[in-house]
Amino acid sequence: MRPDVIIVGAGLIGLTMARELQARGMRVEVWDQSQAGHESSWAAAGMLAGTMLSLNRRLRPAAQASLTLYPEFIAQLETETGQKTGYRASGTLLLAPSDEENTFRRDFSGLDGVDWLSPSDVEALEPELQYSGTVALLSRDHSVNSRQLVTACRTSAALRGIPIHEGRQVTRLHALPGGTWSVESEKHRQVVAHVINAAGAWAGQIDLPQPACPVRPVKGQALQVEAAPWQLRHVIIAQDFYLVPRAAGSILVGATQEEAGFDKSVCPEQLSQLQARARACVPILKNAPVVEMWAGLRPATPDGLPLLGASGYPGYWLAAGHFREGILLAPWTAHTMANLLADLPVPAEVAAFSPARFQ
Ligand SMILES: Cc1cc2nc3c(=O)[nH]c(=O)nc-3n(C[C@H](O)[C@H](O)[C@H](O)COP(=O)(O)OP(=O)(O)OC[C@H]3O[C@@H](n4cnc5c(N)ncnc54)[C@H](O)[C@@H]3O)c2cc1C
Repeated sequence: MRPDVIIVGAGLIGLTMARELQARGMRVEVWDQSQAGHESSWAAAGMLAGTMLSLNRRLRPAAQASLTLYPEFIAQLETETGQKTGYRASGTLLLAPSDEENTFRRDFSGLDGVDWLSPSDVEALEPELQYSGTVALLSRDHSVNSRQLVTACRTSAALRGIPIHEGRQVTRLHALPGGTWSVESEKHRQVVAHVINAAGAWAGQIDLPQPACPVRPVKGQALQVEAAPWQLRHVIIAQDFYLVPRAAGSILVGATQEEAGFDKSVCPEQLSQLQARARACVPILKNAPVVEMWAGLRPATPDGLPLLGASGYPGYWLAAGHFREGILLAPWTAHTMANLLADLPVPAEVAAFSPARFQ
């Protein structure tokens, strides 16, 4: 049967939207040029840094709303699929440099779930952290294992009967008379009423007469160390590195931020600098061998905000450009995009993400 909507890109954004649209009664297909979930969503650290993101006033409502949606999103997904997502609700420790303490305190004032800690609090919460500056506990900012999360979303989509076509690159979108779209790959063609571009860092490359989607890749390299039997209790975010505990003593150390086009090569020297900064604050990591290094491409826009909503072409929608926040914003994005497609009300703040701002 002909789908109502094709989503281009089976990253976390595409897959969460597919679930939401299907739940609202639409027939959905997802096309991905490679393997579902194996690009930026695979590379991500999985921090749900909603409080941090709230420092950006234009992103604050979305960040707070997505943090609120997360526990239910995870519970439903894990129940439906029987798969774990690595959701850890233990909060984040933010390391503020001593000379910027006042700025940090001012920026975070008025936000829920922010507690400035005494040295003895820090020692009790995270005994191996050796940091002389000020530390805040962000008790709403949790984490997931983004690989497990996107795998569970893939499984959920399959259980719901949503076709996910892997190895199918959309090479052309073509507006047809009567308001439908022809979505084309090298070997396939499908006519639909709605197309959503959720192609991550590649979103700007979808072929259309006018470029309306200024998304560029921003490379991020990260690594994983094995610290078992020891494990961190919290996510730790510092100025120039972060640490994210994963299952069974694995700790993710991230991440670089580089303008390197579509290059995804790994540079061990850069990663060892990252590791050295982390070891200076958590010396026990000196004993933790590296088990994996990788790079991914964050989808970035010129103003750092996502592109969500109607493009200049009726029936063609954008859900891209989530930059460093796509894991956090996925459930909120799915909910918001489903409302937009159904012409239901969305909060006024969504206007800040309108693709029209670049046209
Ligand atoms: C190192 C690193 C750490 C990060 N840490 C975090 C974090 O802690 N928290 C957070 O919230 N975010 C984080 N991010 C950002 C997050 O990963 C992204 O914002 C998010 O994954 C974007 O999801 P997406 O579905 O838009 O893109 P992707 O996951 O990249 O998916 C896009 C998909 O589109 C497909 N595609 C592309 N072009 C086509 C085409 N023409 N036809 C068909 N398919 C196509 C690709 O194959 C891909 O599968 C991090 C990113 C990196 C790189």
